[in-house]
Amino acid sequence: MSSITKTKNNDDHSVPVTLGKKPSYQPAHPVEASKTACIRTFGCQMNVHDSDRMRRMVRDAGYAEVQRYEDADLVVLNTCYVRENAVDRVKGHLGELNRLKREGRVKKVALTGCIGAASESADLRKTYEIDLILGTHNTYELAEFIGLPGMEETFTPELRGIEGEHSAFVTIMTGCNYQCSYCVVPSVRGRMVCRPLENVVEEVRRLVRSGTRYVTLLGQTVDAWRGEDSRRFYDLLERVSEEAPRVWFTTSHPSNMEDRTLRLIGEKETLVKKLHLPVQSGSDRMLKVMHRGYRADRYRRKIEVFRDAVTDGTLSTDLIVGHPGETEEDHEETLRLVEDCSFDSAYVFKFSPRRGTEAAGMPGTVPEGVAQRRFMEVLRAVEQNAFGRNQTKVGKVEEIYIRHGRTGDGKAVGETWSGHAVHVPTYAVAGRYVTAEIDSAGPHVLYSREPSGPPR
Ligand code: SAH
Ligand code: SF4
Repeated sequence: MSSITKTKNNDDHSVPVTLGKKPSYQPAHPVEASKTACIRTFGCQMNVHDSDRMRRMVRDAGYAEVQRYEDADLVVLNTCYVRENAVDRVKGHLGELNRLKREGRVKKVALTGCIGAASESADLRKTYEIDLILGTHNTYELAEFIGLPGMEETFTPELRGIEGEHSAFVTIMTGCNYQCSYCVVPSVRGRMVCRPLENVVEEVRRLVRSGTRYVTLLGQTVDAWRGEDSRRFYDLLERVSEEAPRVWFTTSHPSNMEDRTLRLIGEKETLVKKLHLPVQSGSDRMLKVMHRGYRADRYRRKIEVFRDAVTDGTLSTDLIVGHPGETEEDHEETLRLVEDCSFDSAYVFKFSPRRGTEAAGMPGTVPEGVAQRRFMEVLRAVEQNAFGRNQTKVGKVEEIYIRHGRTGDGKAVGETWSGHAVHVPTYAVAGRYVTAEIDSAGPHVLYSREPSGPPR
């Protein structure tokens, strides 16, 4: 998958640069691998993070990691359940795996992640041969399945980042207490559980000591985080920003986002100046139907605070088109909001009915043709804004953090402090900084000249 296409309509909802990445984790005591495993990730950063942990388990159990199913004794599909096409894709993979199993080329298939946690996984078992199904709360049981003793204890702090990685995820909360009409997350990930502040800080310190230079705080609604002594996400972010050299967080909910947190992004040098704040719709009527808990103007005001406090920052969002009951007027309101907020990128999704959610049973289905047109209109509006904004970066000299070393096209993929993705012609490896002038810009990505000076 492209590492830059931020405006899209597929299942891989996350900051794309971490997806499909070949892990650089090495076991402390390398073992001669006689078995092979392949781990495929679908969906968000939470899943990418879970996959990294499972990767560590299979390696510790003596498996070599391979990229192709036909080379693997064990295949783990770590899945997403958020939209129906995500499930369809997984079914396609299960079909192929069953064929390979019959041919004796794959021995075991494990299904983990959000589909594993959903009741639908039982139906899948009727159609496909699956050896192990795990939800998101018991991923550590994979350890037992692959013959690692006593792993439960090691992995119970389920939220750990992986030491020695240049960039690491730190989960600060799991689950979600909202009940958005369309969303399966609360039913598969459960209610919100917050990790204690000191525990997070300790973890960040440990990672930084081990060489991590970029920490991303993760959760479905990170800004809903609550700690002891009525501490809020603001307090946690401030602490973490003092511990790590580069920090970002995702995802936030507009109802929880405090103005002081937005200002903190502008104030703290270590915070990447990028905000992902899903709005879903620009129509008050639809926001109410969706149970989002805010009006479009309140969202606009938050964005004003962010733009004032973080003058050179980037803003991204999630938008759903074609939710049941969405009228042409509602759609126009969304286009108006997109115009007003001038997003730097957006994930635009066509509504997908999910079993068990309120929206799945709602009247007022939007015909596919209409949803597709609205989808394209929103996408175009976002891209136009983004292109215009990206153009203003041309000619600027930027400090760029390398997220991926050089790929096939000879360019590394980096990120500016403003949160822009940049393609850089450099041999610098992931985790290093270079300084380079921005040469040109498209709607999704900037391009730089060769860096001046060596990587740092
Ligand atoms: N916790 C995050 C979002 C998790 S799901 C938040 O609240 O922001 C990621 C995105 O998928 C959502 O923001 C929404 O835009 C989209 N999404 C979720 N359920 C969907 C559905 N049933 N159909 C279409 N898009 C959906
Ligand atoms: Fe889903 Fe809404 Fe919770 Fe986000 S806030 S995970 S969209 S229920």
